[in-house]
This record gives sequence, C-alpha cells and structure tokens, in this order.
Amino acid sequence: MNNWIRQEIQQLSAYHVPESGNAIKLDAMENPYHWNIDQIEAWLEVVRNASLNRYPDPSASEVKQKLRSVMQIPDNMEIILGNGSDELIQMLALALNDEGRVLLAPEPSFVMYRMIANFVGMQYIGVPLQVGDFELDMFAMLEEIEIHQPALIFLAYPNNPTGNSFSIDDIEAILETTSGLVIVDEAYAPFAEYSFMSYLDKYPNLLVMRTLSKLGLAGLRLGFLVGSKEWLEQIEKLRLPYNINSLTQLSTVFALQNYGILEQQIQNIKLDREYLAEQLDIIDGIHTWPSQANFILFQTVNAKKVFERLKARNVLVKCLHGSHPTLANCLRVTVGTPEENKIFLQVLEQVIEA
Ligand SMILES: *Cc1c(COP(=O)(O)O)cnc(C)c1O
Repeated sequence: MNNWIRQEIQQLSAYHVPESGNAIKLDAMENPYHWNIDQIEAWLEVVRNASLNRYPDPSASEVKQKLRSVMQIPDNMEIILGNGSDELIQMLALALNDEGRVLLAPEPSFVMYRMIANFVGMQYIGVPLQVGDFELDMFAMLEEIEIHQPALIFLAYPNNPTGNSFSIDDIEAILETTSGLVIVDEAYAPFAEYSFMSYLDKYPNLLVMRTLSKLGLAGLRLGFLVGSKEWLEQIEKLRLPYNINSLTQLSTVFALQNYGILEQQIQNIKLDREYLAEQLDIIDGIHTWPSQANFILFQTVNAKKVFERLKARNVLVKCLHGSHPTLANCLRVTVGTPEENKIFLQVLEQVIEA
C-alpha cells in the first residue's frame, strides 16, 4: 500500500464529521425545519412514481429549468449540476490543474478548497484575511496573484466560517487583475443581501456556484455552477454520467415547486440570526462578528473548554480554535429553531459562568 497510494493522500487526514446522536445540532449550517405532514405526503406521492430500474435523466433538464426560474439565473448562462457543490469544486480543480498550476483562496475559508487541491495534486495558496474584520487583504491578494498567476481562485461569498461578505469592490478588483478563473461560491446566498449572479455578463472569467444544502435540502446533495457556455461546456466534460440521481431530481423539482415554504423559513432564520447575535453580544466575554449567513462566528474565553462542555450538555457547535491563527478561541453556531437557540444561549451562559 505504502508504495502505491500517493504520498499526498497518505498525509491527508480524512474529513471528520462528528456523530451527533440526539444532540441539538448547530454545527453544520443545516436548515432546522422539517416539512409538515401534508408536504411529506405530497412528496411521497412524487417519489412513488420514480423508476428506480432506469438511469436518471442524464441532463436533469427539469431540475435545471426549475433552478433557472427560482434562482434568477440569467437566460444567456449555462448550468452544471453537481452532487453537492463539493463535487463541482472537484470538477473545476480537475479541469484546470496542470504542471505548476495554482488554486488560490483566502483563509480562513471553506476547507474543501484546500482539500480538493490536495486530492488532485494541485498547488494550493492560502492568503490570510485581514485580522479583525476578515475582509480580503487586497495588498496580499494582488501580490500573490501577481506571483503565482493562479489558474483558479475561490471566494466564498458570504465566507464560511467567518460569516461576512467581502467588499464588492475588492472582488471586482480581483476579477479585473487575474487572468485565471474566479469562482464566487454563494453557498449562503439565500441569507445574504447581495449576489454576483448579475456580474456574469460583465466578467468573462467569473463563475457563480451555489448549493441547495444550506437552503434546507442538505440531504439531497445538489450544487450548481452558473456561467458562460464557453467555460461550462469544457467543465461539463468532467461530469460523471448520472451524477444527479433520480430521487434527488424528483425531490428537487418538488421542493422548488414549493419554494415559498423554504423562503418563509429563510426569512425566519434571518430574523433569528439577528436576535441570536444580540443575545450573544450581551453575554460577558463574548464577541460576535456580523453575519450574512445562517451561522454566527463568536469568540469566547477558552473556546475548547466551552465547546466540550456544550457538547457534554448535548449542544453541538463547531470549534474553530486551532484551525487558523485568526480563529483563536472562536466557535461557530448555526442558527437553529427559536427553541434550539434559546437552549443554546441558556447552556452557553451556564457553561461560561461555571
Ligand atoms: C457548505 C458549503 C459548501 C458545500 O456545500 P454542498 O453543496 O453541501 O457540498 C460549499 N461552499 C461553502 C462556502 C460552504 O460553506
């Protein structure tokens, strides 16, 4: 084995997802709301007719059509679907990697950019965000772009795990400076005020990536990439046939036909986010950062201990301490239901006082 598995792979540690059992799960940016009985019945009626003996529609055309109308995708742009946006990141890295090619992203950001660069043997450059406000450090970004001429740049907008949206002017400056491909990863678009979808016409080296995961359909695994035919017809060649299974296709079309329900949930999550941030800020020794996503990054004293004690009391958040120097003593909490948020706040206060 040692002789054959690539050294880069042997050195990787596997992406760890903790078992959650019956904990209050506020660690993975999931939408906390279930469908009601009527919705479930209507959905079961749809999947009842699935032909599981047949391969799925290879182009998932109904899914794409629905996405187009619900997500304001410009008519002149193409769509590629992925098994989650993680798969799209992988397709992009496979398509653009070559001898000496670089994938660049600010840090801290979504960890899969670095991991997938490693998977495909592409050089990865992480450029630290500004300390304090987690904005892009434009001096460093433009310098690293100049030095490495990256083939691929990923900008999470809003950013995970910091929750902020980078300055639009800064992103435009990057689009104008680099000759490589820039992916604006809008996984949290439903919770944000602004999108780069309308910039696709202006910048030929821009693609916008989205996912249904954070919106409320994490179990379906559906991500999509939007951009010009020129880029997408090349990247499409790397898509494995039938990567979007029949049940995902049927369920996505059904869910998007009922998009109003998800929209209402998102409105509630956004309101609860503001309330949760206010309440966190009141607690002594806690500092929060503004969020455009469905989670809040906050700093506390002895985050590791706070994390362990929350976990011991059945509340699961994400501990970011140790993952990046700028995230010392930081935790990330997903906005849950009002009841979950209340329990989280209560337990957190007790844990901190102790
Ligand atoms: C969660 C997340 C993704 C991955 O989403 P999937 O579609 O579930 O694979 C991509 N980008 C960012 C920034 C994320 O936070």
